[in-house]
Amino acid sequence: MNWFMNIVRPKIQKTTPKEIANNMWVKCPNCNQMLFSKELKKSLYVCTSCGHHLRLYVDKRLKMLFDDENYTLIDLPVLADDPIKFKDSQKYTDRLKANRKSSENQDALKIATGQIGGVDCVVAVMDFSFMGGSMGTVVGEGIVKAADLALKKKIPFITVASSGGARMQEGILSLMQMARTVAAVNMLKEKGIPFISVLADPTTGGVSASFAMLGDINIAETGSLIGFAGQRVIEQTIRETLPENFQRAEYLKEHGMVDIVVDRPNLKEELAKILKILTNKNKAIVQD
Ligand SMILES: [Zn+2]
Repeated sequence: MNWFMNIVRPKIQKTTPKEIANNMWVKCPNCNQMLFSKELKKSLYVCTSCGHHLRLYVDKRLKMLFDDENYTLIDLPVLADDPIKFKDSQKYTDRLKANRKSSENQDALKIATGQIGGVDCVVAVMDFSFMGGSMGTVVGEGIVKAADLALKKKIPFITVASSGGARMQEGILSLMQMARTVAAVNMLKEKGIPFISVLADPTTGGVSASFAMLGDINIAETGSLIGFAGQRVIEQTIRETLPENFQRAEYLKEHGMVDIVVDRPNLKEELAKILKILTNKNKAIVQD
């Protein structure tokens, strides 16, 4: 066995770098099927076996949405870290540091401008991999900044939510972001500027209870979990058993909480169609 361990194995490892070998296959969290990552990339991270929509990293989401994957990033607002000097099992500042290192992002949001279907727009995408996409002051301020930019340029604003809710490490300041983001998107509504909210898995807590449900059109991705409190908490409170698909995109559509449920590969096309109609750029419809 020694010759194998000492000579053959190092050679194999050399030709197949560890990270590539490890990342070649991804297990679907829904059906447990092993999926070839190249295929998964092609299907925009929708399981080719069961159709489950895997969570998408923020950069991949931006590339997917904009024409020719072409967009300009807008810096997030710079605010003081750790406003209430919070500490649980770990200092909040340490948690931020670790997340910034692993995600290479400043906080749980990215803002970009570019074109979707030839229509200029501002897009703000939440990053679930950064502290569960939680909304603290930077995310809240970022949504306000993005909405302000859309207002100034008079172009549509699109948010893609994927969040566990408010960021508990920032206490009351994170809850205040709910009111601030609602005020920001309301300013767009007053000026007649389109605001489209895309709800990706999961959209819960203070994000679902603020701007994310206030789009002129709310679009949910297939199978997304969308709700305020968790199913178990509600069941324990009202002492009733809730339906199995409760808080899923399809159930919410049936009950009028979202307007459209769309498979991820069709999302961009759907957005482009709506943007053209809302900005009067769909000549065919105007002429008809
Ligand atoms: Zn699957």
